[in-house]
Amino acid sequence: MDSRKCQWTAVFMLLAAAVPLAAQPSQFRPGFNLFTRDQDIQLGKEAAAEIEKQVEIVDNAELNAYIRTIGNRLIAQPQADKYPYFFKVVNDPSINAFALPGGPVYVHTGLIAAADNESQLAGVLAHEIVHVALRHGTNQASRANLIQLPLILASKAAGNTSLLGQLTQIGLGLGANSVLLKFSRTAETQADLMGVQIAAQAGYNPIEMARFFDKIEAEGGARAPQFLSSHPNPGNRKQAIENEIRQLPSRQYNADTGQLPRMKAIVSRLPAPKKVPTQGASGATAPLSIPESRPSGRMQSYQGKEYSLSYPDNWKAFPNEKSGGVILASPSGIQQTQQGISVGYGAILDYYQPKDPKATLWQATDEFVQQLRTVDPRLRAGREMPREIRLGNKRAIVTTLYSDSIFQGQTELDQLVTIPHPKGMLYIVFAVPEGEAAVANRSFDQMLQSLRLNF
Ligand SMILES: [Zn+2]
Repeated sequence: MDSRKCQWTAVFMLLAAAVPLAAQPSQFRPGFNLFTRDQDIQLGKEAAAEIEKQVEIVDNAELNAYIRTIGNRLIAQPQADKYPYFFKVVNDPSINAFALPGGPVYVHTGLIAAADNESQLAGVLAHEIVHVALRHGTNQASRANLIQLPLILASKAAGNTSLLGQLTQIGLGLGANSVLLKFSRTAETQADLMGVQIAAQAGYNPIEMARFFDKIEAEGGARAPQFLSSHPNPGNRKQAIENEIRQLPSRQYNADTGQLPRMKAIVSRLPAPKKVPTQGASGATAPLSIPESRPSGRMQSYQGKEYSLSYPDNWKAFPNEKSGGVILASPSGIQQTQQGISVGYGAILDYYQPKDPKATLWQATDEFVQQLRTVDPRLRAGREMPREIRLGNKRAIVTTLYSDSIFQGQTELDQLVTIPHPKGMLYIVFAVPEGEAAVANRSFDQMLQSLRLNF
């Protein structure tokens, strides 16, 4: 399989290298793909149905018409390749937008709020359209699984089970870090450069795309990385975009409808997003329920690579294979979105590497809490001061934090325990709705006491 994979990569790279370097607009074609164009469209429909169970689609006629107007101007350009596009707004304050294979495009309200002008919004949409037109999601899926995928795609012609369901079974579904939604740097470059062409042809000043990316990158922190983590900066993003613009014929950029300020006002008046309980794309979660999430009082053990600990026997372990961490919780105490898993009742154990490798445990803990706060702006310190404890022969710091729970209307109590590790620190967050603390604390104590470390 590896040699086949390499072969395909080589073909792909040759194609990329064959792009003319002379001063003219970049041209890209879809890369290697095992899916048919129709399968892209079908997969996108199924994935859209799944995602729309997990997010809150904004039902505001003016806002929808606005996004559709911009979107339609963009998809009229030949580079969009006539897929059945549609555009929807997601009530979510984080700065993000994403596209699914075959045409569905979603924009977070946070992105509309963050755009300085309509050209920036159009630039991001044009970028998403290129991911669809160049079939980046299914291209990545094709390259990720050359063994099982051809069988699934061939059998699909006969069967009528969901394509998304079958892809999920071989690890190519939605969920965190989905290959369908998280793009390579090559794909990002293509989306930037062809997106610039689309935006310009539609009458939007294409430099605003670069300005927007620059702006959210500079902002850093939480609201920014969500877009940047699935659309990584391929390097010198701004300069590459400026170079591309130089190859384009000069035009009047006069498409701006002047409606953005009005749309921002609509966005600012929307109610805070309700969190929708989900089945989760991977089937890992159950409907949220506090009673179902309570620890049983009986324990089982979990063996990690560098640690072991006990946890309630009615909970499940969701290991993070990449980092070596684990989430221990009842499926009804966690919520899975396409951004990852949120734990409302349970424990997260993982590693953190401070920016300064020589940081003390106190400094690393501080930095980590700052990071958490950028991801969750509602996170706040408790009245209790952080305190040092001993765990076996190691020091540890316990920090109490509060936030809004994924259980609606509840305050979440987070007990963060940080322990020094040769590469930074190991941390455990015990999360629970505040009113449940008395029920859960005994189990959390037992878990902490049972922790054995071998590093
Ligand atoms: Zn992208």
